[in-house]
Amino acid sequence: MQSERPRSRNPQGQRRAPAVATPRVERRGAKGPATPAPEPAVEALTHGAMRTCVGCRGSASRDALVRMISGPDGQVAVDMSGRAGGRGAWVHPVRVCFEKAASRHGIERTLKVPPRPVDGNALVAQARESLERRAQGLVLSAQRARRLAVGMAAVVEATERSTAQLLLVTADAGNHTLAAAERWEAAGILLRKFSTRESLGTSLNRGEVAIVAVLDPGIAAELTTTFDRFAALEDG
Ligand SMILES: [Zn+2]
Repeated sequence: MQSERPRSRNPQGQRRAPAVATPRVERRGAKGPATPAPEPAVEALTHGAMRTCVGCRGSASRDALVRMISGPDGQVAVDMSGRAGGRGAWVHPVRVCFEKAASRHGIERTLKVPPRPVDGNALVAQARESLERRAQGLVLSAQRARRLAVGMAAVVEATERSTAQLLLVTADAGNHTLAAAERWEAAGILLRKFSTRESLGTSLNRGEVAIVAVLDPGIAAELTTTFDRFAALEDG
């Protein structure tokens, strides 16, 4: 089964400048110049391409699935970067799909490696970490685009201007911050819990940060989807 197209990244996982229309040749593990990137239009088309979950056999956009690879140690692992070379198998980031994929050896079949014991719990833990990184990356991209209000004063201002699309409050935020966030949620602003004050502050290059507001609707929507997947991992 063809589970995916060859990826267009070099071995360091960096995006390469679009090249002229050279036929794309798969060069697994090849040294030297990597496969040229597709034209941006092609990239956009493949972004939401459909894949089959090797757990439930359901079809979903690759954005809704996590990618599994055969890791360097021979174990099946979640492809944290989503861009590792070689074959990939796709799974819904839901516990039941990981467990089905593990028990039926669907991942190994797709990766064309011999059946091996696959630890469903370890995969769930890796998927959780991968989702957390994705959420962190999205928050950072909002900051880089200057579409992130950081800290209570900035968030108050954003809510007053009605520019706050999504509020993120850390799990260890103080009662005052939580109460304010819940009032804003009651007034119709999306609210999700994420990270800790120290960890969020560190990733934003600040001291401790207990609350941020995402001002960009697209990034807010992607973050909401990512958090909903966290919830599915916990429940499923
Ligand atoms: Zn599934």
